[in-house]
Amino acid sequence: MVQGTETRLTGIGVSDGVALARARVRAPERADGAHSAPAEPSVERARLEAAREAVRRELRAEAERAAQTVGEENARILLVQEAMLDDPLFFPEVLRRVEADRLSAEAAVQAVAEELAAQLAALDNAYLRERAADVRDIARRLVRILRGDTDEVLGDAGEPVVLVVDDLLPSDATRLDPNRVHGVVARVGGKTSHAAILLRALGIPAVFGVAEALEAIRDGDLVVLDGTRGRCVVNPEPETLKAFEAKVAEERRLEAEWEAMRDRPAQSRDGQRVTLEANIGTPAEVAAALASGAEGVGLFRTEFLFLESPDLPGEEAQYRAYREVVERMGGRPVTIRTLDVGGDKELPALALPKESNPFLGYRAIRLCLERRELFETQLRAILRASAHGPVRILFPMISSFDEWRAAKAVYEDVRRRCEAEGIPVAADIPLGIMVEVPAAALLADRFAEEVDFFSIGTNDLVQYTVAVDRTNEKVAALYDPFHPAVVRLIAQVIEAAHRRGKPVGMCGGMAGEPLAAPLLLGLGLDEWSMEAGALRRIKLLLHRLDASECRALAARVLALGTAAEVRAALEEFLQAAEG
Ligand code: PEP
Ligand code: MG
Repeated sequence: MVQGTETRLTGIGVSDGVALARARVRAPERADGAHSAPAEPSVERARLEAAREAVRRELRAEAERAAQTVGEENARILLVQEAMLDDPLFFPEVLRRVEADRLSAEAAVQAVAEELAAQLAALDNAYLRERAADVRDIARRLVRILRGDTDEVLGDAGEPVVLVVDDLLPSDATRLDPNRVHGVVARVGGKTSHAAILLRALGIPAVFGVAEALEAIRDGDLVVLDGTRGRCVVNPEPETLKAFEAKVAEERRLEAEWEAMRDRPAQSRDGQRVTLEANIGTPAEVAAALASGAEGVGLFRTEFLFLESPDLPGEEAQYRAYREVVERMGGRPVTIRTLDVGGDKELPALALPKESNPFLGYRAIRLCLERRELFETQLRAILRASAHGPVRILFPMISSFDEWRAAKAVYEDVRRRCEAEGIPVAADIPLGIMVEVPAAALLADRFAEEVDFFSIGTNDLVQYTVAVDRTNEKVAALYDPFHPAVVRLIAQVIEAAHRRGKPVGMCGGMAGEPLAAPLLLGLGLDEWSMEAGALRRIKLLLHRLDASECRALAARVLALGTAAEVRAALEEFLQAAEG
């Protein structure tokens, strides 16, 4: 949308924060490329071999650097790319084309990479489809080196920039210097892409999925970027700039307030203490969790290891990932959730049949209890990691006692076997359940007799309570955590657990919503786990709230009949509290 001279663009905010800088546009590489005329095949082959070794050195050096900035697990992405240099389908074919088709080295690399990437992109397997980006990535590196180009946007020191790209590849992301690249706009990509995870780890604000990015933004344009809301404004008008500067000033004020608060315990104005934790999906996210003052990991979604691999990850790979998180959290508790696939998360290695109601189907604990070997392997890996720091185990989507008891029995069996083999494991590993199915919420008083802790997963609890598919845009307006039925279930779980002296956490998105904070504090929620980016705001807000006032508010809210009334009551309360 154009307003005066400025252009407003929207996309998906994939990494929080704001930025203002001149654009550096990197146009996508073109496969038809105007290449220099080919020399003798023997000369082209020698150039190719030299370029391959240069890329190999570059990747190894970058992997070493990346391990420091984005964690070892993510740095491995670069080593996967290195392995591709030796893939028999790739480089030997490039060498053959130089000879057979008399192509230049650059043209041969691009031709083979495009063909290979197109074949991969057409496959059914999501993991292999994603590898198309890696093939293009490697080809781009080879061509850059063959042409003698420098990677100026990514490597040079100089003026800060907002980098504008077609598709940010993971290896690009690991090399970005946050002092130089203040923000990223990409035409494609989403929140769960590798590149997005890496940008969050680096703290670089970013907006992906901006369809018009490359047409609307030119090199040197001034770009205002809001990675939290997924917006950018190109060549902003004076009023827009003013509003942006006000936002930056507010950010600075919050930052200063935060500096004073970061290491203080999270508590309300009148001293009610709560625990603030982070949700993570990969070991790389530990850095952001710690930077935002998380006192632990309230939810480690372990799916990433499974979704990104063409095969099932073995015990060793899982153990390494869990141990990395536990060690980097330095004694803070890590809540590891056992595998939650099915629903909207497809697991290529299991080749699960399509279901007409996947969220009501073969998912999470249901699948694990049937695929015993899968479940046992994961539990062994978690048990081994428990020797390196405090670990808690969380079972997803529990809807009955049978499931909880069966899951616990498998855990105890695996534990006994580890001990018999002399494998060191922690003496005390609390076992908890996700409360994300209304059946579990309604039985919370009984579950509280057996489980060590609860974690309320509002993302699913909302969809199952109000019968609204969380991924269906058509009914998105009906999906509301402030629906009074959801609020009552949450209240019931907390009360039932507290009667038995058991702690209750929340790891669904509601825990990170400022509007929910007074309600959750009033209901007595003990452990709040959220995306690292949300922690600061919630902690600052909690310090302004009075828990006894919030308890009175919660009692009032529990008597309300509609989500709109609940929201209105909370908004009014927050306005008064934030004054
Ligand atoms: C939830 O359902 O609230 C939750 C945290 O789990 P996920 O979003 O991974 O389903
Ligand atoms: Mg869930």
